[in-house]
Amino acid sequence: MMERFTGSFTQQEPIPDEGIEAALAVLRHGRLHRYNTAPDEVAETALLEEEFAALTGARYCLAVASGGYAMGCALRAVGVRAGDPVLSNAFTLAPVPGAIASVGGVPVFVEVTDDLTIDLAHLEVQARASGAKVLLLSHMRGHICDMEALVALCDRMGITLVEDCAHTMGATWRGVPSGRHGKVAAYSMQTYKHVNSGEGGFVLTDDPQVAARAVLLSGSYMLYARHRAAPPPEAFEGIRLDTPNISGRMDNLRAAILRPQLRLLADRVARWGERYRTLETGLQDTAGLRLIPRPAQEVYVGSSFQFLLPDWTAGRIRALIARCAARGVELKWFGAPDPVAFTSRYDHWRYAAPVALPQTDRILAGLVDMRVPLTFSLDDCALIARIIRAEVLAVGQSGEEAGVAVPLAD
Ligand SMILES: *Cc1c(COP(=O)(O)O)cnc(C)c1O
Repeated sequence: MMERFTGSFTQQEPIPDEGIEAALAVLRHGRLHRYNTAPDEVAETALLEEEFAALTGARYCLAVASGGYAMGCALRAVGVRAGDPVLSNAFTLAPVPGAIASVGGVPVFVEVTDDLTIDLAHLEVQARASGAKVLLLSHMRGHICDMEALVALCDRMGITLVEDCAHTMGATWRGVPSGRHGKVAAYSMQTYKHVNSGEGGFVLTDDPQVAARAVLLSGSYMLYARHRAAPPPEAFEGIRLDTPNISGRMDNLRAAILRPQLRLLADRVARWGERYRTLETGLQDTAGLRLIPRPAQEVYVGSSFQFLLPDWTAGRIRALIARCAARGVELKWFGAPDPVAFTSRYDHWRYAAPVALPQTDRILAGLVDMRVPLTFSLDDCALIARIIRAEVLAVGQSGEEAGVAVPLAD
């Protein structure tokens, strides 16, 4: 009998009991706004920031309303102005160019490599051609580029590095937490990321001026002294009247849900790693399918899994996705001509006036993507790999093509 998978690709683990208790306490006292505190009370939000700063070894941390907000805030805080070009990898998610657009910046896309990281040679070409002085680097799907080479290139070209760590919270490169190589980093706590408060984001930096600007931008009114993982009040003196309030604060309810999850992050990274490696082992040496090599310097978070079907026609990939879907395995494809649910591609972001990137087009045309929630067991992952492997071999041998777009549930 043909095996089928019956689990849900979008079902995350529940909020830990400790988070539920803490959230109930906030609801019972009713002080949800981060600056609404009783005498001598330290807000959950301020504690959360302190704890994430400690976890990553950063001096300053600001919790905000979303990952997208964190990126926009970080860009503004490093001085991006309307009309400025901002470099970014072309293989990323819609909120990344969206954050650049939110500050009036102009995205300049950089090619992706076969290993799904930014192409450093093309980065240099695009930096020279555009004159951009800021790179918003998305560690898309958790693939980390050679960070020493990247930082050296940015230093040499006077480029400020802003890291999007939506998929690398908890990951490291040569033991350094992802987000600690650039001037400032943004994280997301949206439901599908590594800690879950529905929505949420962090801005992380060692730079007191960037931190002070981010705090003011996020909507601190004149209550910045209530922050704990922020620079001292002197850092705000010169800028507090010149920095607009663009409200995007985190609230105490979400902070309460998140604090216990930060303590679970290392354990989650280990569990995601086991699931990732189970999938990888199950798909090894499948004719027609290329796995993405993972560099030894990287501790990645296997919250999603990608593989390439190099040189497959669109019709064959559609046939594969339909056959896997029929057996309960939900795959996403970065090669679809139109965006589907969360999956879109640089040339779909028309407002950014994208210029064709042939290397990225070739790679994304064969790129398949899958969520791996922690509710999957290792047996689930082994089963999913068996299904994909069997269908890749079957479609590869039959030469089957599907002509119509495959609807993908999300
Ligand atoms: C989710 C995500 C973000 C942030 O998204 P929000 O939904 O605004 O929290 C940023 N970059 C990438 C690559 C993402 O996947």
